[in-house]
Amino acid sequence: MKLLVIGSGGREHAVSKKLLQSNRVTAVYCAPGNPGMHGDGIKTVAIAETDVAELITFSKREQITWAFVGPEVPLLEGVVDALEKAGIPTFGPRKQAALIEGSKDFAKQLMSKYGIPTAASQTFTDFEKAKNYLLEQGAPIVVKADGLAAGKGVVVATTVEEAIAAAQAMLCDKQFGNSGAQIVVEAFLEGEEFSLMAFVDGAKVYPMVIAQDHKRALAGDKGLNTGGMGAYAPVHHIPAAVVETAIETILEPTALALVSEGRSFTGVLYAGLILTSDGPKVIEFNARFGDPETQVVLDRLSSDFAAVITDLLAHRTPTLVWQTEGVTLGVVLASKGYPEAYEKGAQLVGLEKLADHTQVFHAGVAQNEAKQLIANGGRVSLFSVRAKTMADAQQSIYAELAKLDTSDYVYRNDIGHRALKAPSS
Ligand code: ATP
Repeated sequence: MKLLVIGSGGREHAVSKKLLQSNRVTAVYCAPGNPGMHGDGIKTVAIAETDVAELITFSKREQITWAFVGPEVPLLEGVVDALEKAGIPTFGPRKQAALIEGSKDFAKQLMSKYGIPTAASQTFTDFEKAKNYLLEQGAPIVVKADGLAAGKGVVVATTVEEAIAAAQAMLCDKQFGNSGAQIVVEAFLEGEEFSLMAFVDGAKVYPMVIAQDHKRALAGDKGLNTGGMGAYAPVHHIPAAVVETAIETILEPTALALVSEGRSFTGVLYAGLILTSDGPKVIEFNARFGDPETQVVLDRLSSDFAAVITDLLAHRTPTLVWQTEGVTLGVVLASKGYPEAYEKGAQLVGLEKLADHTQVFHAGVAQNEAKQLIANGGRVSLFSVRAKTMADAQQSIYAELAKLDTSDYVYRNDIGHRALKAPSS
C-alpha cells in the first residue's frame, strides 16, 4: 500500500511513522510534511494541505491506496469530500461532520439537543447582548470564538471586565475575523482535564487510551495558552470508570447524534473533557487527532495502524490492542518567545546524541543550506520516551533534552506533573 498523509506537523509525523511500521505499507507520502520527517523514511511532497486539485493529481499518479487528513483546516474546507469524489478513499470526516469542531455553537446545540454533558452556554453575535449576559452571569466565565482560531480563540476570564473585553475584541474588533463573528459564552467548569480520542465509523466508536495535554506555556500551568507543550498517555489516575462513563455518555451518543443529523462521522473524534464533581463534561470537540496527544497515544497502539484505518474505511471492526502498562511522555521544544513573537532559524543541535529509545516528532522545522534542521515555527519538535513510571519517564526525557543545545528554545520542565501525585503512575 502507498499512503498519503495530509498535514505538516508533529501529529502527521507520528501518524506517518506509525503507518510505515506496517509491513503492508510500501510508502508514506506526507503533503506538505516537513524536512524533519525524512529521517524516518517518510517522503514529503510539496503540495499545500488544501490544494485539492494537486492532491488528487498526485494520488492518482502515485496510485495512493488511501489518504489520511491530519489537520482541521483541510477537513473543514472539504478536502475529504473532494478526494472521495475523485475516487480516492480518505480517512477523516466530511465537511458536514467536521463542523463539530468548526463551529462551537453547532457543537453546543448538538450536545444540548442530545443531552450530552457540557457547560451551560449562550451564543451571541451582538456585543451589547453579550455584554448584558456577561454582567448578569459574573465571573469566572469563558468566552469562545465560534470558529477555528488555532487554539487562541478561548478566554477563561476571571473578571467580568476581562470577559467583556474578550467579547468586544471578537465581535467588534474582529480579532479572529469571521471565526469570532459569533461567540459562545460558557459557564466556567472546575476539574481535571483529559483528552479522550476515538476512531469513529458512523455510530461505532473505538476508543483510544486517554491522554493529558499541557496547554499553558509555563511550568505549574501558568502563562499563556499554547497549542500544547507536552502530553502523556495513558492517564492512570483518571479512573477507568470515569473513562467508561465518558464513552457511554459522551462519545457514543455524539457519534449517534451526528448520524441522526445526517452528518455521519468517519475519522477520529477528539473529546476534550473535564472531570467535574458531577462527572466528565465536554470542553470541546475536535474532528481529528490532537497534537501533541497523538505523538504519545499512537506509541501505545500495538496493532497494525494501517490495518486499523483500512478496516475503518471498509466499515469493518478494527483490531485495536493498546499497551496500558507504564507511560509514554512527550515534551515539546518550542521557539523562545512562543506563543508570542519568536525568532526562526535557530539550529537544532545535538539530535545525534539522543538515545535510540527517544522518539522525535518534528513540527515547525526547515532546513538550512547545509541541510541541518532549523526552527521554523512556534512548536518545533516533540521528544518522547516510554517508561514504567512517570518519575522514570520524567527523569529520562529531561536527561535526553539536556543533551541538546536549547539556548534558543524553551520547554516545560514539569510535563506529567499531575500523574506524579498518583501512586499508580
Ligand atoms: P484547541 O487548541 O484544543 O483547539 P480551543 O481553542 O478549541 O483549543 P478549548 O479547548 O475549548 O479551546 O479551550 C482551551 C482551554 O480553555 C481548555 O483546555 C480549558 O483549560 C479552558 N476552558 C475552556 N472551556 C472552559 C470551561 N467551560 N471551563 C473552564 N475552563 C475552560
